[in-house]
Amino acid sequence: MEVRATLLQAMCLMTEGDQPTMSQATPATPQRILVADDEHLMATGLTTSLAALGHSVIGPVSDGESAIDCARQEPPDLAILDIRMPGIGGLEAARILWSEMGIPTIIISAFSDPTYIEQAQQTGVFGYLLKPVSSENLRVTLSIAWARATNQAENSARITQLERTLAGRRSVEQAKWKLIEENGLTEPQAHAMLQKAARNGRRSLAEVADGVLAGEAIELG
Ligand SMILES: [Mg+2]
Repeated sequence: MEVRATLLQAMCLMTEGDQPTMSQATPATPQRILVADDEHLMATGLTTSLAALGHSVIGPVSDGESAIDCARQEPPDLAILDIRMPGIGGLEAARILWSEMGIPTIIISAFSDPTYIEQAQQTGVFGYLLKPVSSENLRVTLSIAWARATNQAENSARITQLERTLAGRRSVEQAKWKLIEENGLTEPQAHAMLQKAARNGRRSLAEVADGVLAGEAIELG
């Protein structure tokens, strides 16, 4: 296992001369790209093209499992995965990379039959390139895939935030009604109580409300 881990670490090392990004904000283009293809020539060609386009390459590795392990050790911005590899294929790896790590994938494939395309419409796949992959196609597909993935990630974050806000408001309403029923208060009085408890405890209104709903007593008046 140790040998395998060391090998993987070695394979995960970025190619020589790459500059790791220091920016915390979402870059305009994916900077670190993980490559996985069991065809050595294809993997090497992709690595060369990506480096020429100014990207840092992680790998290449030759199967889906190594791609997932690599991504866990050194998360890339985006992955380019061959559709057919030994063990875990590109599509399954893409699903895992996106759902567990938020890493988008571009699939590369020698096949354009409808079944492959349908399968590639699953979660995590943001582009599909047919072999042989020209540098121009690679550049354009990368740009579109990155924009779509960034957009989707931003929308998901927005939805999560909205859900949290809604849940918080629901808690506050429920806590207010609990205080009204238990203490014979008016709604403004109950609201003021929650606000006061939040200020005094340096907590959010929703946190105080959750506490009240869980049976926590707050100061009346
Ligand atoms: Mg293959």
